[in-house]
Amino acid sequence: MTRVLVLNCGSSSVRYRLYDGSDVLAKGLVQRIGESGGDAADHDEALRTLMDRLDLSGLAAVGHRVVHGGERFTTSTVITDEVVAAVEELIPLAPLHNPGALTGIRVARKLLPEVPQVAVFDTAFHSTIPPEGVLWAVDRDLAERYGLRRYGFHGTSHAYVSRETARVLGTPAAETNVITLHLGNGASAAAVRGGRCVATSMGMTPLSGLVMGTRSGDIDPSLVFHLHREAGMSLDEIEESLTRHGGMLGLTGANDMREVQERVTSGDPDAVLAFAVYTRRLREYVGAYLAVLGRVDAITFTAGVGENSPEVRAAALSGLEPLGIRIDEARNRANALIISPPGAPITVCVVPTEEELEIADESRRALSL
Ligand code: AMP
Repeated sequence: MTRVLVLNCGSSSVRYRLYDGSDVLAKGLVQRIGESGGDAADHDEALRTLMDRLDLSGLAAVGHRVVHGGERFTTSTVITDEVVAAVEELIPLAPLHNPGALTGIRVARKLLPEVPQVAVFDTAFHSTIPPEGVLWAVDRDLAERYGLRRYGFHGTSHAYVSRETARVLGTPAAETNVITLHLGNGASAAAVRGGRCVATSMGMTPLSGLVMGTRSGDIDPSLVFHLHREAGMSLDEIEESLTRHGGMLGLTGANDMREVQERVTSGDPDAVLAFAVYTRRLREYVGAYLAVLGRVDAITFTAGVGENSPEVRAAALSGLEPLGIRIDEARNRANALIISPPGAPITVCVVPTEEELEIADESRRALSL
């Protein structure tokens, strides 16, 4: 019994994939749940409809993507009533993300009471980051009381891609050091030493670090106080601005990197500058993680931008030749698995991420299937 249904429930959407081993038997997306003209009135109806459509005979597990596991969940966890309650307690840390997953878990448990269900957390892979990479220099009491620390996200992607990179290199994951760059609409970097994460760019929430499609990435936090005092913006308005109207969207009016690149080609100065901001931030993190790791075997690009944009990859790593980082132009243009020239000290890779497959595999691991 190796069939696993993977559910990724957002506030208004459900993404699903049904796996048999690593084969995808079915996949799809139910969108605009609860909206007029949407695919379903609520999550209950959405899950009922998709489960009716799927052949769930021999289903061994349901794997749920849960964004925030807080300090408590450092590994994929079989879901019980107590786990549901604990995920609910984490809502204040992930108000935009955890409620959707919780609804999905509740409905799926109700509809498939006989099937074991597993929560796979975006934060779990980062639980090996040492304390000095997790703590910020803020009041210790406040930090402890309110859970102020780095958690990191995109963990299933960084885990999968760093492991795949070791496979590409032909070295054991436990002996391979990798910098992984997950560049999608959301974006994050991670430093992975011997299969264990030691640094990542996202923080308490997925807002910090790299420049993203609509999120600002790193800023001076004083900007928040300044906007509150000088622009009279409420905290909710500032949060909305930084998370939904920042990043490439804020700089250019477009969050899609393809559109930004088209504008760069046609010489739009805003797009040229935004592209430079985006790729410079990437280079800063690569430099930082080279220093954190000391020895780096590979740098791996993944997700929508990372897998498809030779321009971003080339610009992000340009000027780093003295550090052993080189890109072969033809390989880069072809989105090849290895885009550095033979013999380069650091191998540069493009590895398509498979977050859903990783969730299915994690679900099986958690259940010892
Ligand atoms: P993801 O969140 O991983 O699905 O990535 C989505 C993002 O990938 C989109 O917003 C695009 O900006 C970006 N993307 C997809 N294809 C390309 C491409 N060929 N060139 C540049 N960016 C791309």
